[in-house]
Amino acid sequence: MTGKSDSYDVIVVGAGPVGSQVAYKLADKGYNVVVLERKENLNGVVCCTGLVSWECVDEFSIPEEVIYRWVNSAKLIPPSGKPLRIWRDVLQVAVLNRSAFNDLWAKRARKAGAEYLFDIDVRAIERGRKRTKVIAFSHGEMMTLQGRVVVVTTGFGAHLLGGLGLGGVGDFVMGVQAEVETKGVDEVEVYFGNEIVPAFFAWLVPTLPGKALVGLLSRYNTPSYLRKFLASLVTTGKVQSADVKFTYGGMPLKPLPHTHSDKLLVVGTAAGQVKPITGGGIYFGLICADIAANTLHRALEADNLSATSLSGYERAWRRKLGRELTTGYWARRIYEMLGDRQVDRVFKLLESSGMIEELRQAEELTFDWHADIIARVTGRKLFAKAFGSVKKPFNLKTVPSPARKQ
Ligand SMILES: Cc1cc2nc3c(=O)[nH]c(=O)nc-3n(C[C@H](O)[C@H](O)[C@H](O)COP(=O)(O)OP(=O)(O)OC[C@H]3O[C@@H](n4cnc5c(N)ncnc54)[C@H](O)[C@@H]3O)c2cc1C
Repeated sequence: MTGKSDSYDVIVVGAGPVGSQVAYKLADKGYNVVVLERKENLNGVVCCTGLVSWECVDEFSIPEEVIYRWVNSAKLIPPSGKPLRIWRDVLQVAVLNRSAFNDLWAKRARKAGAEYLFDIDVRAIERGRKRTKVIAFSHGEMMTLQGRVVVVTTGFGAHLLGGLGLGGVGDFVMGVQAEVETKGVDEVEVYFGNEIVPAFFAWLVPTLPGKALVGLLSRYNTPSYLRKFLASLVTTGKVQSADVKFTYGGMPLKPLPHTHSDKLLVVGTAAGQVKPITGGGIYFGLICADIAANTLHRALEADNLSATSLSGYERAWRRKLGRELTTGYWARRIYEMLGDRQVDRVFKLLESSGMIEELRQAEELTFDWHADIIARVTGRKLFAKAFGSVKKPFNLKTVPSPARKQ
């Protein structure tokens, strides 16, 4: 048995952007932090499109060197095929180079003093009276590390959390993506309809000149839907070849019932802190990473890492994001119940009622915060009619008071 013991204040499991954000914040405050990552390095392909809002770039000072490009428009293509173009005068969304971003965020945490150990697959977390033990495997050998507190930022897939009393993510969807060579694709394109992928959507997102990411989300048959979608893009000449490598990833659509416990926090996608409408998890994950680091700083200083002491993290992130996640989830479920004709009708109404122009001008229409927009659209009689017999599974008015970004 190898390994270090009793030397860490904080053990972070998972070196994605969220783990590195927590590590950076706490190492910068002088804590002894280690990050354990099961990959050999952070240079590999990441199954993520990397779309983040300008707010995220601004708030977390993401540098241009990890941004492929900026976009201020998108083409939404309904089942009928008649595109609806949405745009803003100013740049809205950045397309990140995800592996470069992961690498940069880890380098920043290292510079602040965090230690990174790669090729370490964490298999179990055991909490003792004073310390938390992490049991991991590296090159077939077991190792044990101990820390005052463990932060789980392992992304999608919760086997590490089993038996820790936090419950499970109640709903999820699978994503698939590939990098393709393109011709004349200069705008984000989002496709809807049962023929392409039922209940969710597919995308084509330009990155570098002549390249794009194509992908989709689906509850089942994810690769076969992408193969079919790619074939259609090759036929129309947008994509050069369908002979490309697929990468896969899951997305929780609901948060964990509990994200804190004695000497333990769960943050980011592992906690289900993901926008249920789009599957975006980078911005919300980074917001929660900062909340987690603040809570941990106070708890470490007070030398009190009990569940009660760490509960402030859970309260704070739910106050900030809870309404977005609840409203977004139910809006997603409504969308899943619509047939192609209803989706086409909603698209037509958005254009003919002037709603699209109204939303374009609306300050509250942002890439990240959807609850107010959902309330505004579903509150209109015209749109309520378009949803026809689809029964709303919730009453927006009963959603707890706004937790908008300050
Ligand atoms: C197809 C697809 C497209 C997406 N597009 C977007 C998008 O455009 N915008 C957006 O904001 N979000 C997007 N997301 C979501 C986004 O990728 C995640 O929300 C984000 O990466 C979450 O970061 P994280 O640090 O929580 O987890 P991750 O980035 O998943 O990092 C977790 C890390 O933990 C490591 N790990 C896991 N288990 C262990 C273990 N047992 N021991 C040690 N290490 C472990 C993993 O190797 C990984 O490096 C997309 C997701 C998918 C699947």
